[in-house]
Amino acid sequence: MGQEDGQKLYKKEKTKMLLNPKKLNKTYPDKETEEIMTKTIDFFENLGLAKTNEDYYSARWYTEFLDFLKEEEIMAKLLTPAGYGENARWDTSRIVEFAEILGFYGLTYWYCFQVSALGLGPIWIGKNEAVKTKAAKLLKEGKIFGFGLSEKEHGADIYSTSMQLHPQEDGTYKAKGNKYYIGNGNEAAMISTFGKMADTGDYVFFVVDSQHENYECVKNVVYNQDYVAEYALHDYPITEADITDKGREAWDSSLNTINIMKFNLGWASIGICEHAFYEAIDHASNRNLFGKYVTDFTHIRQLFVDSYCRLFAMKTFALRATDYMRSASENDRRYLLFNPMVKMKVTTQGEEVINHLWDIIAAKGFEKDTYFSNAAIDIRALPKLEGTVHVNMALIIKFMPNYFFNPGEFPEIPKRDDPCNDDFLFNQGATKGLGKTKFHDYNIVYGKYDLPNINIFKKQIESFKEFMMVSFESMEAQSKDIDFLLNVGELFSLVAYGQLILENKEIYDINEDIIEQIFDFMIRDFSKFSLQVYSKTNATKQQQDICLKMIQRPVVDEARYNRVWENHVYAMKGTYEMNP
Ligand SMILES: Cc1cc2nc3c(=O)[nH]c(=O)nc-3n(C[C@H](O)[C@H](O)[C@H](O)COP(=O)(O)OP(=O)(O)OC[C@H]3O[C@@H](n4cnc5c(N)ncnc54)[C@H](O)[C@@H]3O)c2cc1C
Repeated sequence: MGQEDGQKLYKKEKTKMLLNPKKLNKTYPDKETEEIMTKTIDFFENLGLAKTNEDYYSARWYTEFLDFLKEEEIMAKLLTPAGYGENARWDTSRIVEFAEILGFYGLTYWYCFQVSALGLGPIWIGKNEAVKTKAAKLLKEGKIFGFGLSEKEHGADIYSTSMQLHPQEDGTYKAKGNKYYIGNGNEAAMISTFGKMADTGDYVFFVVDSQHENYECVKNVVYNQDYVAEYALHDYPITEADITDKGREAWDSSLNTINIMKFNLGWASIGICEHAFYEAIDHASNRNLFGKYVTDFTHIRQLFVDSYCRLFAMKTFALRATDYMRSASENDRRYLLFNPMVKMKVTTQGEEVINHLWDIIAAKGFEKDTYFSNAAIDIRALPKLEGTVHVNMALIIKFMPNYFFNPGEFPEIPKRDDPCNDDFLFNQGATKGLGKTKFHDYNIVYGKYDLPNINIFKKQIESFKEFMMVSFESMEAQSKDIDFLLNVGELFSLVAYGQLILENKEIYDINEDIIEQIFDFMIRDFSKFSLQVYSKTNATKQQQDICLKMIQRPVVDEARYNRVWENHVYAMKGTYEMNP
């Protein structure tokens, strides 16, 4: 197949998978959603690359962006759940698409939106109707929000929160304490602040206004367009009317908020990689060295094919995970596995994609006139925020026994881009009992495919199951070594990653060549982590032997590889460039 045919095929494929903002070509469930996406794209394309870069490097607060959001009431439309505005709905499928578009144009814009969404989490989850009504009104007025969970000294250890509410004789409270790393802390109309009651030690969530006289915005702790604040509350007056939750419910509210919102991190990562990919392929395919194009080097093609397939897999997985997020209910908590994976696996894959692309474009990746130079920095943030990779991996490991050995029965979940409110997300309930969560049998979808690389991967999974069966006794002691556990968790996540990618192969009718090429890197990744577990000092002899069985080699299929290169990867050349 020639390049022209390849580009035609790419056009068909890209309408379903990778974002090209200049050829959106997508059907939306309603006009409002379509306009949110197209107007946002137009806003950035009109701003142009030079201006976004100038603002990025001068760390300028994004006034025009906020004006645009306000004028179009975009935050109000996307972040108001049903019941608090006309036709309002919290619809994850459009929130993630918006997050992807913002990531595509600059993580800094995404961050402002993201921390607003986070700040609204405890409000919508809480029981304080007056605060909800106020938040809906402020959203409509174009205000931004913040989420005050982190403190300078405590990091992931939110048990140790030292922000306190001091009860007063008249039944009100005074808030005292500092928060650190809080986005939009300079302007947010409401910051959901997590603390403890000074008398009982119970947890509490309350809202503060960044413009109040007892609120001190101490400083921006980063040099960036974002405002990541340290703020101090100096006897800030609080009444019951400002409190959204207390006790166990406040605790659950903090974790459930992160549960909902950390999903968007993977989507920002996808957007960043998509834009960086366009720049990389255009640069490499037009650069002639020693009489040939950079894209003619075999190692460059391999890096491109790998980065394309990793990116394609990121989006395919994240789209399917969105279906599970939207279908979550009291009886279906599978999102609790797939959601942290979008946060942790997709964002670390994003780093890998940028690493590959940067190896390809080398010096060009430093140039201030490219989008890539921002991408190379920003992509690093996503695995680290809203819970590190380690914290999320430690979380999902709890699901392993049920996932592999005790599957449940669930009705089939369809593609979920229907325009409805995701009711359950703000009613997730208690954040305990994770180990009891059930999943549908991963063999169902793997069993549908008889393709060379998928078959090898299935063998790797079988060996991994064997690994777990011989590990029941040793695992308790071994799990004290978090590094051991993290590598085992990497193997587990690859199985679930492949599962959802295959589920979406059916839904999106994804080309078989791409799927096989995706499983080519999945087999290599599985082998890499198997070797790491094998090399751990505390791996038993039995475990080591099984690890060696898990190390496999993908099938060599040069024709398929060349088709992927020609029809999908190289075909991206010249298909998108941001307006200057
Ligand atoms: C730019 C930026 C913006 C931010 N915005 C906000 C915001 O708007 N609101 C907000 O509340 N916070 C915000 N944060 C804070 C952010 O969410 C935390 O930085 C993040 O959760 C990690 O905490 P830490 O960096 O303090 O790491 P630490 O908690 O200090 O962790 C140190 C190391 O220990 C590991 N570790 C810690 N606990 C565990 C565990 N249980 N299991 C395994 N490993 C563990 C970590 O993985 C890490 O490697 C922001 C941070 C930054 C940098």
